[in-house]
Amino acid sequence: KVAEKAIELEHCERKLLLKSGNMRKMGLNVLSPWLAPIIWDGTYNIDMLNQQHNGTRIGLFVFAVKKYIRFLLPFLESAERYFMVGHKVTYYAFTDKVNDVVKPKLADGRILQIHDVVADQRWQDVSMRRMEILTVFTKEHMPKEIDYLVCADVDMVFNDHVGVEILGDLVATLHPVYFLSEPDAFSYERRPISAAYIPYGLGDFYYMAALYGGKVEEIYKLSVSCQKGIMKDKEKDIEAAWQEESHLNWYLVYNKPTKILSPEYLWDTNLPNGELIKKKRFLAVHKNHQEVRN
Ligand code: UDP
Ligand code: MN
Repeated sequence: KVAEKAIELEHCERKLLLKSGNMRKMGLNVLSPWLAPIIWDGTYNIDMLNQQHNGTRIGLFVFAVKKYIRFLLPFLESAERYFMVGHKVTYYAFTDKVNDVVKPKLADGRILQIHDVVADQRWQDVSMRRMEILTVFTKEHMPKEIDYLVCADVDMVFNDHVGVEILGDLVATLHPVYFLSEPDAFSYERRPISAAYIPYGLGDFYYMAALYGGKVEEIYKLSVSCQKGIMKDKEKDIEAAWQEESHLNWYLVYNKPTKILSPEYLWDTNLPNGELIKKKRFLAVHKNHQEVRN
């Protein structure tokens, strides 16, 4: 009875969305035009997927440099509650303050690796540095240790289930600000001089660099491409509009993701349209940008 009611409600909501024209919005679909699934609550059976992923090893890559170290413990503790529960997980945490890391209590089968990384002065460079480190680790360390890698911002907390439904060859997440926008409104890099340039008329979705992932070899290819773009821009003394996120979006125009995560997987409670997002699985921690970046 409860299930029937839920399905009925779901129907009503879909009809409402259709009526308002919202279903025609690409970002609310459950399939991309190249037939990659867009993951929303209710589109998958977690028990079946867990069975398929029996033994799968998953990495979670995160930077916590300078003041951002304050976000690491809450991030990891929330991951212990909600991220890939019951599976083999290796956290790859990078910081300039290795000795200041407070380790959370980890469940069985879960490992925390802490690695030293240089602290770039500008926050933009810290953020972009992640691509360079990814090119090294996806080549040298991770292939033996994990099957899939998930890359995330640290100023986030898991707030609901995030499991193996997000695994795929190449996975990206819809940016919660742009999932209802038309492509020409996306904040792609629009200057032809940048390696991240995407002309108007091109592009499918605007993805947020705070959560993406895939098979280790796919993230290797992705990070090499993005890192090349970042260096090309640096040689010209320019920087893409949204740093590595711009290069990530460029890469994904030409290498379509095989799976797309709905904004359930990247949300900020300050944003409008929250009523469309039933599960808020991975939430931005509100921060004072000025204070934390300087
Ligand atoms: N970051 C960091 N230290 C810094 C700046 C950035 O560790 O001083 C890392 C951290 O993982 C952060 C990510 O880079 O989540 C992206 O930066 P930020 O979250 O500030 O970007 P936003 O989400 O605000 O666009
Ligand atoms: Mn962030």
